[in-house]
Amino acid sequence: MGKKQQFAVIGLGRFGGSVCKELVSLGNEVLAIDTDEQKVNDYANIATHAVVADTTDEKVLKSLGIRNFENVIIAIGDNIQASILTTLLIKEIGVKNVYVKAKNNYHHKVLEKIGADKVVHPETDMGRRIAQQMSDENVIDYIELSDEYSIVELIASAKLEGRSLVELNIRARFGITILAVKKADDINISPMPEYEISRGDLLIVIGHNDDIKRFEAQVM
Ligand code: ATP
Repeated sequence: MGKKQQFAVIGLGRFGGSVCKELVSLGNEVLAIDTDEQKVNDYANIATHAVVADTTDEKVLKSLGIRNFENVIIAIGDNIQASILTTLLIKEIGVKNVYVKAKNNYHHKVLEKIGADKVVHPETDMGRRIAQQMSDENVIDYIELSDEYSIVELIASAKLEGRSLVELNIRARFGITILAVKKADDINISPMPEYEISRGDLLIVIGHNDDIKRFEAQVM
C-alpha cells in the first residue's frame, strides 16, 4: 500500500461520505467538511476531524489550512455554483490533487477549465461499469486505460482447457497480452508461453478493446 496521505472531503452526501469512510479505513488522515451540522456530527467519529464550514468562503478555507492537504475531494452535488467556487478557490490556494464530483456535462466542462485534476460522475461511471459487466458474461472486472485500451479480467471457458499460450499465439493473432493468470488464491504474473490454461482461470488481459473483443469471440 502507498504511504498514508492527508485528504479533505468536502460535502458528506452519499458519495462524499463513502469516499471519507474508505479513505479512513485505508489508514489515511481525513478532514471531513460540510455546511450541514447534522452531517458533520454523523462523521465526527469516523473522520480524523470533522468540521462545519462553508467552503465557498476563502477565509474559511485558509483558516482550515486547506493548502497543507495534498488531496481534496469536492463532493458537493446539487449546488453547482458552490462546487465550482470551491474548486476555483482550492486550486488557487495550490492544492495538487483536486477531485470533483460533477452533476452533468456542463458542470464537468467548467470544472476542467478551472483546473480540477479529475472530474467524476459516480452514477454514470458506475452505470457504465455495471452494464459492461452484465452484457459480457466472460468479463469479471475491467479497468479503462483510455477510450480505446483496457485491462480486462476474463474467465477461461472449457474451450481453453489444456491449451498453452504458445499454441494459442495470442499476441501475434490478436495483438493483446496476458499480464497474469489467477487461479484460486494463486497469481501467476507474466505466465510462460508453455503455461496451460485450465477452465475457470482468470486471464488478466491488456489491449485494444476491439482486439480483446475479437479474442473473446474467437477463443473464449
Ligand atoms: P449524493 O448523491 O452523493 O448523496 P448529492 O449529489 O445529492 O450527494 P448534495 O447532498 O447536494 O449532493 O451535497 C453533498 C453535501 O455537500 C451536502 O451534505 C451539503 O450540505 C454539502 N455542501 C453543499 N454546499 C456546501 C458548501 N458550500 N460547503 C460545504 N459543504 C457543502
